[in-house]
Amino acid sequence: MIISSAFDGGNIEVLSVEGDAAELNIRTDTNSHFFQWFYFRVTNGGAGPQIFHIRNAGEAAFPRGWEDYRVCVSIDRETWTRHDTTFADGTLSFTLDIGTENYYVAYFAPYTMDRHHSFIAGITSRLGWAYRDLGATLMGQSMDCVSVGDGPLTAWIIARQHPGETMAEHWMEGFVEALAADTSVASEARRLMHFHIVPNMNPDGSKLGNLRTNQAGANLNREWNVATLERSPECVHVKKAMEVDPPALCLDVHGDEALPYNFIAGAEGIPGYTNDQAAQLDDFLMAYKAASPDFQTKHGYSKSAPGKANLSMCTNYTAHAYGGLSMTLEMPFKDNANRPDAVHGWSAERCRDLGAKALEAMVVWAKTRD
Ligand SMILES: [Zn+2]
Repeated sequence: MIISSAFDGGNIEVLSVEGDAAELNIRTDTNSHFFQWFYFRVTNGGAGPQIFHIRNAGEAAFPRGWEDYRVCVSIDRETWTRHDTTFADGTLSFTLDIGTENYYVAYFAPYTMDRHHSFIAGITSRLGWAYRDLGATLMGQSMDCVSVGDGPLTAWIIARQHPGETMAEHWMEGFVEALAADTSVASEARRLMHFHIVPNMNPDGSKLGNLRTNQAGANLNREWNVATLERSPECVHVKKAMEVDPPALCLDVHGDEALPYNFIAGAEGIPGYTNDQAAQLDDFLMAYKAASPDFQTKHGYSKSAPGKANLSMCTNYTAHAYGGLSMTLEMPFKDNANRPDAVHGWSAERCRDLGAKALEAMVVWAKTRD
């Protein structure tokens, strides 16, 4: 059995391979102590079952993420199926017997930078979509931003500040597809709003196989009020573009390691949070719940106390700076416990569907602001 991760988004360290058993560690993010994302290839696995032990899982960023976790496995890197794991004494273990010698194993369905470039190429080939490179990352990659729509309300939609939360960019595919479609929802959305979309806020971390940080080890969603070109140029570039056309609505898309639900966190704790901001959030949450059976409002993060919100986070920073509706969407790494899928768990396909349904909620919100 040969295990490798020297590819776009790959992450694993091989401690030893003996027969059909592999001892592994997850590599830390570059210049950081965070880790949890893994993505590796198995070749020449042999006929029998293969056994994997990730020895440092207990020291990962979110150990609760391993409870009831089922690992993602694919033969073709398109369809990812779920397989049981056990988490004991700090080690995540699983045994795979999938009937082929060569396959891929990942924390969640990966989203490579190569796929990102195909996504951007597909969007920008469509009529009416404008492309901007907002600036360079530390590794010289582009901060890709696409814009569409003629409406007066400005919507900024960003995803994947945390690069290991690949579900966020799968969500983006569905959202953009819905916005580009020849439907009444899409035409209404483009009439009421104009959209600036950054499908990948952290290209360097994505390529490097990081969980949470960029190349310099910066957690971008703790940089918004302190961002510098040296440490977090990704935030600097997007903030600069936001200042030119500030968001009336800002949605920042993420994944959560532990909670098996889709939910939104608002900006309730910012200084000067207004009744109008609270009402807009309520409107959006109700509309999203009505649009998608996968979205819910019962489970989520506890709200920050009034005035105590962390302004280094995008949602709080933008709500505070621009006074609009700002939200963080979280999707599970595990599954939606309200609608479990035994074969796929929470999947890329379901992320895309939830992305498409967000557009309906935005139209409902925009109509109340029209
Ligand atoms: Zn996140």
